[in-house]
Amino acid sequence: MADLMEKIVSLAKRRGFVFPGSEIYSGLGGVYDFGPLGVELANNIKSAWWKNIVQERDNVVGLDSAILMNRQVWHTSGHVESFADPLVECKNCHSRFREDTLPKSRNCPTCGKNNWTPPRMFNLMFKTHIGPTEEEADETFLRPETAQGIFVNFGNVIDTMRVKLPFGMAQIGKGFRNEITIGNFLFRVREFEMMELEYFTYPKQAEKDFEYWKKERMDWFVGLGIDKKNLRFREHEDDERAHYAVKSVDIEYNWPFGGWLELEGIANRTDYDLKQHAKESGKDLSYFDEETKEKIVPYVIEPSLGIGRAMLAFLIDAYEESDAPTAGSPSAKASGDKRGETEKRVVLKLDPRLAPVKVAVLPLVKDAKLIKIAKDIYKDLKKEWNVMYDEVGTVGRRYRRQDEIGTPYAITVDFDTLKDNSVTVRDRDSMEQERVKVSEIPNLLNGKLL
Ligand code: ATP
Repeated sequence: MADLMEKIVSLAKRRGFVFPGSEIYSGLGGVYDFGPLGVELANNIKSAWWKNIVQERDNVVGLDSAILMNRQVWHTSGHVESFADPLVECKNCHSRFREDTLPKSRNCPTCGKNNWTPPRMFNLMFKTHIGPTEEEADETFLRPETAQGIFVNFGNVIDTMRVKLPFGMAQIGKGFRNEITIGNFLFRVREFEMMELEYFTYPKQAEKDFEYWKKERMDWFVGLGIDKKNLRFREHEDDERAHYAVKSVDIEYNWPFGGWLELEGIANRTDYDLKQHAKESGKDLSYFDEETKEKIVPYVIEPSLGIGRAMLAFLIDAYEESDAPTAGSPSAKASGDKRGETEKRVVLKLDPRLAPVKVAVLPLVKDAKLIKIAKDIYKDLKKEWNVMYDEVGTVGRRYRRQDEIGTPYAITVDFDTLKDNSVTVRDRDSMEQERVKVSEIPNLLNGKLL
């Protein structure tokens, strides 16, 4: 299983999904850069989330609040005091770990000894300063969650959008956490993008809405292709919950490195944040209920997911290796295709909505006439989708390259195209090819890719 992680990390680097951050300077712990295919995949994950959470609902609106916030926000929210993890140091080799991530044996993952300092709480927020002086009054933090930007804008949205309880505010943005123990690739990093929904509801309806969002969020992962058997819910114990939550349930994924661990967190944050901010800012952050003529401070249900962690789960779940017949179109022999033989095929069976490249356009061989037609098709499709053109190597090799990055369809222009203006469209998963007229390609793809 650990082997699978190595393959994913290697594929991600080799094919331009994920690069180690600041790599030419030996990297930076817990920081990664998304390459050309990674940024496409991340954008597709974000679009799928936004469509599901904001666009398709009547009662959820979007927001994009600033990363830097008045330092008072973080004092009021309790993050300065409580957003901390227990840090222990190995007395033998001085490696530092988050205590709750130690193995069951409690042996040091670096040197194997079991001799720890007592735990001390380590705050995960990155400090920074605003303006030219580095005095405490100018100090603030890089946000560790986007949620506070939503809470401080609660009044603005109520005043401008005529929203009615229950309603949600959603945003996607960067978060920063100075994690003690990083590792497992994108699973735990120090800078990451998050997708968060704060769903404001009547306090008496909060438990029901919590269950609703659990189901919605689980269905979202399954709907985008993650195998149900690799997902489960786990409720937090009393001593695990964040300082603001009365109930937290994780959607866990069965990771190849550590087994069942958090993929997404869903928390009932009650009215904690709005009440705290109302108290400290002196501003009224309540909601006036027209029906009962009462002021209410709503409860909040929060599903929160990191894009990198989601990307890792989608990549792992989509990764498949098999022995497959060497690839080829009916007339592929001409390009050196060894028909009847098998070879290892690596394929990312990503949902077409997530796939970084939707279609590859390939001339069967480097023939000027085929290249011209293939490039015309490529240019045309590019207006609508992210499309790749490739003429390098045998067509079989080119299919494999597209399989490995999860491209759902490949269009091949061959010598028959010159006669009847038709091409083959190959399906990544079944490897079946159908012959269609060039003019029919957009229609066919519209049906397959939406
Ligand atoms: P963990 O217990 O794994 O540290 P957490 O409970 O602190 O996570 P939440 O505060 O619930 O995490 O964060 C919401 C989501 O943001 C997580 O479910 C995860 O998808 C993502 N996330 C949190 N911390 C990180 C991180 N350091 N690296 C990548 N993603 C993260």
